[in-house]
Amino acid sequence: MKPFAYVCAATLQEATAAHAGLPGSRYLAGGTNLVDLMKRGVERPGTLVDLARLPLAGIEELPGGALRIGGTARNSDVAAHPLVRSRHPALTQALLAGASAQLRNAATTGGNLLQRTRCPYFQDVAAACNKREPGTGCAARDAVHRDHAVLGHSEHCIATHPSDMAVALAALDAEIELHGEEGARTVPATAFHRLPGDRPEQDTVLRHGEIVTAVLLPAAAPGAVSLYRKARERASYAFALASVAAVLELGPDGRRVHRVALAFGGLAHAPWRAATAEARLTGTEPTAEAVREAVEAELAQARPLRDNAYKVTLARNLACDALATLARQAQDGQPRTP
Ligand code: SF4
Repeated sequence: MKPFAYVCAATLQEATAAHAGLPGSRYLAGGTNLVDLMKRGVERPGTLVDLARLPLAGIEELPGGALRIGGTARNSDVAAHPLVRSRHPALTQALLAGASAQLRNAATTGGNLLQRTRCPYFQDVAAACNKREPGTGCAARDAVHRDHAVLGHSEHCIATHPSDMAVALAALDAEIELHGEEGARTVPATAFHRLPGDRPEQDTVLRHGEIVTAVLLPAAAPGAVSLYRKARERASYAFALASVAAVLELGPDGRRVHRVALAFGGLAHAPWRAATAEARLTGTEPTAEAVREAVEAELAQARPLRDNAYKVTLARNLACDALATLARQAQDGQPRTP
């Protein structure tokens, strides 16, 4: 590993100033992804600015029922929080579907959002990779790409984003709170991660030096139910081949969809919010036929590669099953707490 300097910041201002003043610096939170990448030579920071001492690990309820989850809150603490479990089961389920218990104890909210793709060619410094080294090409496109994207990819990159949590946040209409040298701002979770286009090296809209200080979860609507489903190669400690987060709220008649939110993971460079399917389902009865038609309309945008067309079928079935389960829960009036 390349030698690096280490700074432990006591305040946000200290952290951003250290980041700006020291060349090649990177923020360090749980380190569960960054340190791995440093060992592989993919990341080679000159300085690590540790955020562990910043007061950003809290989870608090805001007036009106929204939740504010601090940027360094541990994934395990968020998953286990009573208000997250009872109001936003999709988020707890997504977090528990990710990594191992040991990693969830170390990984943070901000770090989860900012983790890098697990494309094996990105992690191999001998391979061509436009994300790691812009302009060098994409080794995955004509090689092993069974796990890669079917939606929103470009000729420059076909990687997927590995976060389960980010998919749940996209469906839950969360906002990401950021702090940089120019001050604070918030970005919708649906706009935080980017599609690759011709700049695959940029995973997110984060500006240089900004820190993820919090995730803001809006209050859950009365009667709304949510869940997260994930398909993977083995039962634990594996990234999603396809996943889905869904939120469903029925209207006053208890039959028709008042509001639905659907997001896919494992299919694209960013969580994929299914706007077409949502528009088709809103105002209708979520019968098996209506749900399947809406999900298929969404996935008609897919452009599978040579070896990953199976993901489209997998995602369709996951989404249909998730929405059928939520429709039953909403009609029973008994959301499940994980
Ligand atoms: Fe790199 Fe993206 Fe190609 Fe993977 S898919 S090798 S991350 S450019």
